[in-house]
Amino acid sequence: MLTNDQLGQWDRETFFHPSTHLAQHARGETPTRVITGGSGVHIEDRDGSRLLDAFAGLYCVNVGYGRPEIAEAIAAQAKELAYYHAYVGHGTEASITLAKMILDRAPKNMSKVYFGLGGSDANETNIKLVWYYNNILGRPEKKKIISRWRGYHGSGLMTGSLTGLELFHKKFDLPLSQVIHTDAPYYFRRPDAAMSEEQFSTHLAAELEKLIETEGADTIAAFIGEPVLGTGGIVPPPAGYWEKIQAVLKKHDILLIADEVVTGFGRLGTMFGSDHYGIEADIITIAKGLTSAYAPLSGSIVSDKVWKVLEKGTDENGAIGHGWTYSAHPIGAAAGVANLKLIDSLGLVDNAGKTGAYFVKAMQDALGNHAHVGEIRGEGMLCAVEFVEDKADRRFFDAGRKIGPQVAAALLKQGVIGRAMPQGDILGFAPPLCLTQAEADTVVAAAKKAVSEVLG
Ligand code: PLP
Repeated sequence: MLTNDQLGQWDRETFFHPSTHLAQHARGETPTRVITGGSGVHIEDRDGSRLLDAFAGLYCVNVGYGRPEIAEAIAAQAKELAYYHAYVGHGTEASITLAKMILDRAPKNMSKVYFGLGGSDANETNIKLVWYYNNILGRPEKKKIISRWRGYHGSGLMTGSLTGLELFHKKFDLPLSQVIHTDAPYYFRRPDAAMSEEQFSTHLAAELEKLIETEGADTIAAFIGEPVLGTGGIVPPPAGYWEKIQAVLKKHDILLIADEVVTGFGRLGTMFGSDHYGIEADIITIAKGLTSAYAPLSGSIVSDKVWKVLEKGTDENGAIGHGWTYSAHPIGAAAGVANLKLIDSLGLVDNAGKTGAYFVKAMQDALGNHAHVGEIRGEGMLCAVEFVEDKADRRFFDAGRKIGPQVAAALLKQGVIGRAMPQGDILGFAPPLCLTQAEADTVVAAAKKAVSEVLG
């Protein structure tokens, strides 16, 4: 067994970590944390710490850690057939069964599932499908994609462009020119304090329509959005938002991509965020909760409307020129089948709604009156605490003070993992959907202590 020191040295010398301050890490200024195991909502590291992971990894280990049902399904698939491709009509029992299980759970207008590996590649697929769709319909100019500031859709070339967070653009020459951003549905940061939620939604829909008219509707192919903004701050939409936005998109014949990488498979207390908010998407992106991250797998669920045009396209042009070696990987598919069965048998969608509501309310009761807590918001098993310098006039802390990261670090000292969201001073929570009320109480008590340690 390697010692932590050896691993730490190899880590600094060889491992290029994603989303990490590379220079600080290489200099040994940030710790190497080696995770060794997990069970339920807890993980363990090599130093013997047991931590309550109230962010489910990266909002993905939805059924919790250490589920033997999924591990056994993966092992059985690996023994029987670890790999075969899905090109030219090939499949496995697992991949075909999983497509059927997804469609059985998806909104009724959905037709087929394309499988990828992660949320980013699924959204890359979606944009290609949208472009193909408009080319087949003879509308080669209708190609731009609208996404929202603070949206998160991945960190590839196109998906990093769709993502509306500065960190993901800066020094990467992004966003690409085909992507334009509209305002975030972030009620706490509304331009006029006197606006009601409905008024703010009306304002956002009007801004969207203005943007479409300025660019020309015949140049805009699709709008992409997460039902609840995730990495941009964990922000549920204001009342009426999705209804008003969809009316504008319909009017201008613009496709809607619902990015349900976080919200798919139960996180909001409904199977999909689209069900939760009455979203009628043309394409739905899924990943994370599809396998609870036991194996990498993502998907693009395509509606009847889009599918019919794709079929026409292949009749005219031959096989679709899109596919990955690992599309519909049998091991990911086997994990997905076992995971969806477990979500049903454990009643996790229901638990996400009920325990999630309990958790958000408990957090509001514990911290709502704190002078530097501007807002506590949530939906289902998602919760965010946003810090402000001055509550009355919604004045934020200087970003350089790093209040969010400080509170997250203080929380970790209490044995609980939350996430300092990348833009703003926001402490985010997205626990596994199996969280109990007692575990929710533990997270809330730790958050209260952490906030008082940093902010008094
Ligand atoms: N879409 C959303 C809504 C996400 O939250 C994420 C990741 O957090 C992605 C897409 C990208 O997924 P991945 O990191 O698997 O590429």
